[in-house]
Amino acid sequence: MGEAKRRETFSQRIRREQPFCIFCGGATPSETVEHYPPRSIFDGKHRPQGMEFGACRECNEASREADLVAATLSRMMPNPKTSAGRAEVKRLLHSAFRISGFKDEFLPERNQVAALNRLQGIASQLPSWNFLRIGGPIVARSMTIFGSKLGLALHTATTGRILLTSGAVAIQWYSNLQAYQDALPKEFLAMCGPGRTLRQGNFEVGEQFSVASVVPDEDGSMSAHFATFRQSFAVLMFATEKAEEAHRGWSVSPGFLKRPLTVIPVQLTPS
Ligand SMILES: [Zn+2]
Repeated sequence: MGEAKRRETFSQRIRREQPFCIFCGGATPSETVEHYPPRSIFDGKHRPQGMEFGACRECNEASREADLVAATLSRMMPNPKTSAGRAEVKRLLHSAFRISGFKDEFLPERNQVAALNRLQGIASQLPSWNFLRIGGPIVARSMTIFGSKLGLALHTATTGRILLTSGAVAIQWYSNLQAYQDALPKEFLAMCGPGRTLRQGNFEVGEQFSVASVVPDEDGSMSAHFATFRQSFAVLMFATEKAEEAHRGWSVSPGFLKRPLTVIPVQLTPS
């Protein structure tokens, strides 16, 4: 009861401070508080405060499937160390495999396993190594939603502004395989400086989520971010108030959660 009351107060505070949904251009009143990255990304859904956003109900709920896919993918590396962690991964996979077609898309076929095993040599020093299969349509769709939503959230968190519908957010994401093939955007990462994570007193989740950001102009009209989730995947996000600055095929506009989605293509492992 006491805790429920405190939660209610916290939610009311966020909605008072952020009266408009940050995900659909700032014209819709916020009806809910959206935690982004979502709780399901974190071990035991245990997440320090920070990065809570005013959201309308539709934008809040539209990413449910994408959040589940992202939470599942984020557990692929490293393997959980505790039995509670292993049980959580099992539950996530069980839920994610209820998404029609996801299981077939996610698990490598027999002939691909041999190819993946050959590639495994590049990371032979690692105790556990799980490759992500990222070429399928459900992963592409989920990462478009998850990455774009996170890009909008980080834009607001770093600039204090809501990206308007005339703006755009572009994303590109990287699997752990690409990270070990040295295919991450090094120049951009050098520009961002060190990453940060959510922190509340001594409780911090840097091994699960970290993000580095750059806001190049003082007016906050643009922001760029690189977020990593455990050792599983990373997302590069670029939010700008001028949609023409974002490559058309690689971006969506605020409000995208309420429209038929233009899926941003997933770039596969570079050759
Ligand atoms: Zn909204």
